[in-house]
Amino acid sequence: MTTRKPLRAKLATSVSKGAAALSRAAGRGDGSVIGGRIGLMIDPDLLAHLSAGRQIALISGTNGKTTTTRLTAAALGVLGPVATNSLGANMPTGHTSALAKAGDTPYAVLEVDEHYLPEVLDATAAGVVALLNLSRDQLDRAKEVAMMAQLWRDTLRGRALRLVANADDPMVTWAASVCPDVTWVAAGQRWHDDSWVCPECGGAIERAGEGTGEPSLASGGGEPDADWRCTGCALRRPTPQWTLDGDAVVAPDGSRYPVRLQLPGRVNRANAATALAVAAHFGVDPAAAVPALGQVASIAGRYATVIRDGRTIRLLLAKNPAGWLEAFDMAQDCPTLLSINARDPDGLDTSWLFDVDFAPLRGRQVLITGDRAYDLAVRLEVNEVPFTHVRSFGQALATVPAGRLEVIANYTAFQDIRAELDRVN
Ligand SMILES: [Zn+2]
Repeated sequence: MTTRKPLRAKLATSVSKGAAALSRAAGRGDGSVIGGRIGLMIDPDLLAHLSAGRQIALISGTNGKTTTTRLTAAALGVLGPVATNSLGANMPTGHTSALAKAGDTPYAVLEVDEHYLPEVLDATAAGVVALLNLSRDQLDRAKEVAMMAQLWRDTLRGRALRLVANADDPMVTWAASVCPDVTWVAAGQRWHDDSWVCPECGGAIERAGEGTGEPSLASGGGEPDADWRCTGCALRRPTPQWTLDGDAVVAPDGSRYPVRLQLPGRVNRANAATALAVAAHFGVDPAAAVPALGQVASIAGRYATVIRDGRTIRLLLAKNPAGWLEAFDMAQDCPTLLSINARDPDGLDTSWLFDVDFAPLRGRQVLITGDRAYDLAVRLEVNEVPFTHVRSFGQALATVPAGRLEVIANYTAFQDIRAELDRVN
């Protein structure tokens, strides 16, 4: 435990907690960034000091890291108190704040922005790292997928840690394969358009049930956990130890654990499999953890279901093409509202809308809104998906019949709708 923290770290911890509380009191958000920033100014090694004595897991990847972090924290919670950055502040300031706020806990599960994995690994000396997936995200500022895979690979080489990695993502597999201790999970990959080219040799990646080199908009087809291999070198899908079988997670010893999640979609069952695999490294029995996973209802409003004016509204957050494919898989066949903004947290470039195949929405009543609804309108027109433009969420509600409404929105558009729904969750 962190009882012998240096004096500077103690001071920094208490100032950090105070600043976070002040920020919350002033109504400026949850304070996790400002608190961490001030704490790190006083003690630049504060994250390392706060990490000492804890057993830590890091969760990183383009999509699903907030959800998987929450599920993993729930699974580890059967052993004792867990510190976690549950609100998605996933850079070192957020980690520092989360650990300071939690006080001494034996365990921590931290969501980490992909770019910050090297820095956070150095500071926390985490023993277990889960790598979920890599795909294009925020084209105007994020690294290219191949560069990110290279960064991870360079970071992981020579480290003594236990990896949990997605065997269905060739880029993740390549990055992880420098590590001698990898537990592979068949976590799935619905979006293939960032992994047609082998990161090792430049050869084509071939997937079972699909031809090679067809970078088409139809790449959401096929099984998300189909076998794959490089046609030019030895890189191929590792045999996963953790798999999905319908609604069950299958552990390395062949035991089946039916998971009854409140969160929708195959992708969340895969996130649950990853959470159980990470927790198993800490000695958690999957049978004990599965009920805890079923308690997780919504994450910062994501997947929340709200009833308003006779409509049952479900909120799905999707920030990039791979996320939109997963959202279409989760959404029920019913009226659907799409909302797109391009403010700073979303990335300013909306050209990625043309990477998404909206054809699965054909035949549904589709409504569009948001700052960049007209970008979406052009895309839907080209994709031959009929739609109606509405000026607000309220107008959308008035336009659809009583019953279900699915809402799929990117980051700030999602926050706008949550605000309109009086902060659900
Ligand atoms: Zn290759």
